[in-house]
Amino acid sequence: MKLVLKFGGTSLASPKDITNVAKTVASFSKGNEIVVVCSAVDGVTDSLILISRMIEQKKKKDVAKALDELIKKHRKLADQTIKNSGIKKQLVEKLDDDISELQELVRGLTLLKEVSARSLDYLVSFGERLSDDLVSFALQDLDKKSTALNGKEVGIVTDSNFGESRPLMDTTRIRISKTLGSLLSKKVIPVVGGFAGADQHGNVTTFGRGGSDYTATIIASSINADEVWLMSDVDGLMTADPKLVKNAKLLKEVSYSEAIEMAQFGAKQIHPKTFEPLLSKKIPMRIRSTFDVKNTGTLVTPSPSAATKKTVKCISALRNIGLMDLSGGILFAAPGSAAKIFTILAEKNINVLMVSSNPSEASISIIVKKVDLAKSINALEMNLLGKMVKKIEGSSNASIIAVIGSGMKGTVGVAAKVFSAAQKRKVNVMMIAQGSSELNLAFVVKDSDCKSVLESLHEEFQLDKIN
Ligand code: ASP
Ligand code: MG
Repeated sequence: MKLVLKFGGTSLASPKDITNVAKTVASFSKGNEIVVVCSAVDGVTDSLILISRMIEQKKKKDVAKALDELIKKHRKLADQTIKNSGIKKQLVEKLDDDISELQELVRGLTLLKEVSARSLDYLVSFGERLSDDLVSFALQDLDKKSTALNGKEVGIVTDSNFGESRPLMDTTRIRISKTLGSLLSKKVIPVVGGFAGADQHGNVTTFGRGGSDYTATIIASSINADEVWLMSDVDGLMTADPKLVKNAKLLKEVSYSEAIEMAQFGAKQIHPKTFEPLLSKKIPMRIRSTFDVKNTGTLVTPSPSAATKKTVKCISALRNIGLMDLSGGILFAAPGSAAKIFTILAEKNINVLMVSSNPSEASISIIVKKVDLAKSINALEMNLLGKMVKKIEGSSNASIIAVIGSGMKGTVGVAAKVFSAAQKRKVNVMMIAQGSSELNLAFVVKDSDCKSVLESLHEEFQLDKIN
């Protein structure tokens, strides 16, 4: 099989972890063609972002200290991971090249005292530029042929939307299939640094936080892989968060659309665009653990088997969100009023997570992230209060509970079951929304009721017996 294996940062946290990843790749490479995609070493992207803030705050000493720690961390990992002294020397030389470039960049930005979106992408891309070498040389240390490539080198071409770029798939596909095709034909295992690519002018771009998942699926789609595996510190997708629901179970199989819903509701952090490149090619994905390779995890498939099309697959919660209730002024029910509200929020760059309005149109409830709540209320009050809207009320200790599963579509009685589960625990439902896809029934409760209602729903749908 042709496989793309993506490893998250927590799988690359120590010399032991990196060696473990290399051994896993080496063992799967018997009889398979493998492309590895890796995230930055655990915590490194956060450090780079922190460095950019320190630069802007003119904290020169802090910048130097943080940069020094980051460099030491990688040198230490190199030293302790690789046994063969010749291979270690080559790795150190390669890291030193990248480190010099990073130091030069930080020096330049420190002089300018500003970090543009373009510079930030260049800066944060270094996490994966350094980690791909650690993994590639660890493979060589196990006598495997391997080459490290960053996103630009492998051929990922994107638009110039720094911080949130998108691949130009036609060009990208041609370039990637050429670079990787030639390596695979020579039995070399390519290790690609995730998260970043370059625009048509050669500027480094990134896909946004968690973007290495996206890199993996872009590559899988470009080389027509048989499967793509996202390997991290979780066993797969679960029926609920095991920290909140004790008997939560691992899901053996979910559909693309279910996984997309689950990713949005934070069941496992997956970059939101991850599934896009897979859709047309119908490439299956596995979400599985780096630390327990015998466990095959969750299969995310374009064609789920009839047996797994159960009504409900998963109950998840988005904790601590901000809820706003806007209620009636004279113009509230007029055409364009909703558009006005959302335009105001969009202009402030606020993402709306959930909306619900009743047919009388006397009120509308809107959910945003907690951090955006004050800004949202302020913007709406400035523009609408006393005109279209009489009252705006906010509350910040609410949670969205989402009941997810493709089998809900057209099934009678799901909503009744959901609300009876809430009623059994005497939990008050503050707001309800269901999209027409019927994949997801979401409602809002007080955050302090969250755990209780999750447990009750899990029980009601007998999710502990799902597989
Ligand atoms: N290193 C990047 C981040 O932490 C991308 C990734 O890990 O997927 O967001
Ligand atoms: Mg590199």
